[in-house]
Amino acid sequence: MAIEPPRNFAYSDIELDAREGEIVESFLKSHQTAIPDPIDWLNAPPLASNVLLTSVDKVVNWSRHYSMWPVTFGLACCAIEMMCTAASRFDLARFGMEIFRASPRQADLMIVAGTLTWKMAPWLKRIYDQMPDPKWVLAMGSCGTSGGIFKGSYSVVPGFNKIVPIDVYVPGCPPRPEALLQAILDIHAKVDKMSPTRRAVEG
Ligand code: SF4
Repeated sequence: MAIEPPRNFAYSDIELDAREGEIVESFLKSHQTAIPDPIDWLNAPPLASNVLLTSVDKVVNWSRHYSMWPVTFGLACCAIEMMCTAASRFDLARFGMEIFRASPRQADLMIVAGTLTWKMAPWLKRIYDQMPDPKWVLAMGSCGTSGGIFKGSYSVVPGFNKIVPIDVYVPGCPPRPEALLQAILDIHAKVDKMSPTRRAVEG
């Protein structure tokens, strides 16, 4: 093992002053020339530094992917985990979606978290219809997949897909925030595969 060379410690005010003086003197000697302004990039050829080749589809999908805003739709116990996902420990903001919208008109993702009763079903559909296209729906929890522990009940919808189309199902009762995050990443993967321009031309 290498032995460190002995270090020189300053033990008095005089030694400290002398050490500080040495540092200042050395700075004074080594900093006599002006440092050039950091503007080299200004003289770089404009084409090389400003042109990025990609497709319109990729740019549109990239912006949708990183700015997905969920509409608030917590119905029961699963909503607690959804709220937890948005809080600091799991930090939904990392994916550009920290803002849960109170208005469906400003949202493109609906996270339906909880037990949907037939009494509530028309309002789920209405809020879905009020969201602008393109929009995605995430069914959170066993209640969303099949009615969960309430399957067969007279009052509970046995799966949200009876009311609206579902893009991703998150199993669990309730699913943990990690599972919801994975589902959101799955939705992002779907968004990346979209072709907005082809749709626009075809439409
Ligand atoms: S899946 Fe479980 S935790 Fe989620 S709403 Fe249904 S009963 Fe509650």
